[in-house]
Amino acid sequence: MIILGIETSCDETAAAIVTEHGIQSNLVHSQLEEHRPFGGVVPEIAARNHIEHLDGLIKQAMDVAQINFHDLDGVAASAGPGLIGGLMVGLTMAKSIALVHSLPLMAVNHLEAHALIPRLTDKVDFPYLLLLISGGHCQFLTVRGVGQYRRLGTTIDDAPGEAFDKVARMVGLEYPGGPAIEAAAVNGSRHRYDLPRPLKGRPGCDFSFSGLKTAVSRKIMEGKVLEKDIPDLCASFQEAVVDILEDRLQHAAVAFSESHGTRPLVLAGGVAANSVLRARLKATANTLGFSFTAPPPALCTDNAAMVAWAGIERLRLNMVDNLDAEPRARWPLDPDAPKSVGAGVKA
Ligand code: AMP
Ligand code: MG
Repeated sequence: MIILGIETSCDETAAAIVTEHGIQSNLVHSQLEEHRPFGGVVPEIAARNHIEHLDGLIKQAMDVAQINFHDLDGVAASAGPGLIGGLMVGLTMAKSIALVHSLPLMAVNHLEAHALIPRLTDKVDFPYLLLLISGGHCQFLTVRGVGQYRRLGTTIDDAPGEAFDKVARMVGLEYPGGPAIEAAAVNGSRHRYDLPRPLKGRPGCDFSFSGLKTAVSRKIMEGKVLEKDIPDLCASFQEAVVDILEDRLQHAAVAFSESHGTRPLVLAGGVAANSVLRARLKATANTLGFSFTAPPPALCTDNAAMVAWAGIERLRLNMVDNLDAEPRARWPLDPDAPKSVGAGVKA
């Protein structure tokens, strides 16, 4: 099975060719430079940029994999959640290719793509506990099968990637903030600044990051952060984020194992690229009896290989979409989950 994957949900234009055995090509054109002056993603600029680059990237992905359109068994594109302009570009491209070459179309949920890629990279079997941490999301999910997700907890305010990006901006580091903060923190003391860990110790597995972000901004306003203190602030902030995730993991692991026992913990999403966070959560998972898996960093941040892989998983089960599939700005993996589930949810 050879699938073309297309990703345009945010600020990465990406195309990939994936088979059941592995990734044949995986190209990403990042729009970072276009958005950097604004300190975040500008939807209109993103959509125009996808239009400019997508066709060339698809050609390049096919060239690297040494295949033609007639070799394909299907085409998959992120259809949501994300910025609607970009989603329209990618999904319309996928529909055109599907129509012209009579191929099955898979309109993939971008979060599902993050959730399923470890099944290719690490051969993880269902069920598993997923912690999805990115610029727009923060949730624990029980992954029971393709299309079968139960959300155990989510953020009641910001996503961790958003917090990384905002704190970076406060101290004058470049967008995206995650990698910049991780790099600055290497030379800093994680115990220097006393920062809050919202919801720590509370029942349930929801998250909160906005109080932490506010506390950082207060330290800066009070004049407690000079240029030389930035590494310490970054290290202290990163430590607080990891502490929050670790505490919440302890609760999620209990909720999950009540129904499924100890299984793999899988980390996904852009923030999962953080090496300090990966090491700490691996240790915590192992202490709880869970094995630990996280895709390589390049497959944690947005990419089209994960979209193509989700396409393979769906096509194998005949979960194919019609050409009238619509892009969706909002598209929860577990539509039945309440806004904030709190304690006592069944995995
Ligand atoms: P995504 O939303 O999955 O595209 O991931 C993008 C988010 O991941 C942005 O908010 C980045 O700041 C964040 N991110 C990327 N690399 C890292 C890192 N090494 N540490 C923390 N956050 C990161
Ligand atoms: Mg993403």
